[in-house]
Amino acid sequence: MKGASMSKATTTQSAQAAPGAAEIRRHRHLIAGQSRAEGGETIERRSPVDGRVLAEFALGTAADVRRAVAAARSAFDGGEWPRIGGMDRGAVLYRLAGLIRGNREELARLDAEEVGKPMRVARGDIDGAAGHTEFAAGLAGTVHGDIHTNLGDDFTGLIMREPVGVVAVIVPWNFPALILMQKLAFALAAGCTAIVKPSEFTSGSALRIAELAADAGLPAGSLNVVTGDGRTGQALVESDHVDLVSFTGSTATGRRVLAASEGNLKRVSLELGGKAAQIVFADADLEDAVEGVLFGAVFNQGECCVAGARLLVQDEVADEFLSRLVARAEKLRLGGPDNEDADLGALIHPEHLEKALGHIARAREQGARVLIGGERVEGERHGGGCFLAPTVLDRVGAVTSAFQEEIFAPVLTVTRFSDAQEAVALANAVRYGLGNTIWTKDVDKVLDVSRALKSGTVWVNCSIDGAPQLPFGGVKASGYGREMGRAGLEEFTELKAVQIRTGRRAGTFGLSPGEG
Ligand code: NAD
Repeated sequence: MKGASMSKATTTQSAQAAPGAAEIRRHRHLIAGQSRAEGGETIERRSPVDGRVLAEFALGTAADVRRAVAAARSAFDGGEWPRIGGMDRGAVLYRLAGLIRGNREELARLDAEEVGKPMRVARGDIDGAAGHTEFAAGLAGTVHGDIHTNLGDDFTGLIMREPVGVVAVIVPWNFPALILMQKLAFALAAGCTAIVKPSEFTSGSALRIAELAADAGLPAGSLNVVTGDGRTGQALVESDHVDLVSFTGSTATGRRVLAASEGNLKRVSLELGGKAAQIVFADADLEDAVEGVLFGAVFNQGECCVAGARLLVQDEVADEFLSRLVARAEKLRLGGPDNEDADLGALIHPEHLEKALGHIARAREQGARVLIGGERVEGERHGGGCFLAPTVLDRVGAVTSAFQEEIFAPVLTVTRFSDAQEAVALANAVRYGLGNTIWTKDVDKVLDVSRALKSGTVWVNCSIDGAPQLPFGGVKASGYGREMGRAGLEEFTELKAVQIRTGRRAGTFGLSPGEG
């Protein structure tokens, strides 16, 4: 198993450390308010920065999943969470947001160590997680239905907006706390109950946030966390007692999730892979664009579904832009969680590093020129860590794998274009459709190109940014469904129509008067 290995071990929750060694965190599931794990098998998480064992997570079995689903089911069917007023749910979520902010360093450290990213970036993730929770808290009291009085004299219609039920939240490893709260805060605000399955590489912050949610007043059973790998996730998706799966991960796994959900035809929302283009037009503020393009490509070590991994640059400025870009890229700093100056950290595990290096080698074979990077960074400060140098690959053709496939590492491909039409065609020439960026000062170009791009988000003179108020999601192989914004909350609701016959006129039903 990649960067994580399994062993038979006790499921004790207490941390244990060999003399002089750093503490290993041992985690169990959180089900119905109880810390538990029945199977005994664990997943070991090693640091991608120095290889030391950071944590052990319980490997969730089918029985663990059944128990967690039963807890969430009973909390939904008979518990108070879906039945209290939205403002009361909002109050609990505001308290949770405060606790997330109050425990920022601890949560950021869990994510920084398990992902291998700098604390500076992880702190921003925790602020984002708290922001989503606050926004969802504010929305909780605003969810309402509608009344239809335009059905003629005989009828009145009520349109009820209800929580969808028991939600399975399955998340990846790149932004463990942030992506979790992009989903969970909105699901809870809607009145749903949940079972969370965090990534097998990064489960620490989800468990801690679930504890904080209990401290904030969330009733036991309304939020359960089962740790484990794909098998645990699959058992959760297959459960006929789950009403909706909110999944973020790769497109390949998304397809498996969709197939596994067929039993009870549960709803599925899929936030999948991406391969965003960054289109730099000749009229752009080039200095600003150099900074922004680089940020979009290397933020979170490029392990970002919306990473601006394909630079499309207009012919007349291409050479100048690239020389400035490379000069700036040379100054980027790599480092582990405790390097406060680091721009980017280590890749998630050695196999992922090898995969990224394989992509670079293949791109070279297909004619790409390495302008900078392309290699693992070693030496005294980075020895043993999964560090990949920020890499720029020039002359990348649209049919090559480096252009088409998600590399999920700090690797930027460069392709030149002559006009807006060609830029749009290149941007849309991949199977993904999550986000794209345009760099220009021309407002007409902004509108025309935004309309023509096939993606859930278009950034203009910025990249990767997100706001809890704006809906986020993909088209094409990037999936469907929306997170965040009002749409993100409505994703966790179902509409019910109640048609009331208010008139009592004879003949309403259209039957003949009948004999005699
Ligand atoms: P992954 O698909 O390998 O795993 C995601 C989650 O699914 C993990 O918790 C994993 O244990 C679980 N899982 C694996 N197999 C499963 C199965 N058969 N049934 C149910 N669950 C299963 O993805 P990853 O490597 O953790 O994350 C990287 C991927 O996530 C990239 O492709 C990236 O683009 C994507 N991503 C998308 C978004 C978005 O918002 N669209 C955000 C972040 C990451």
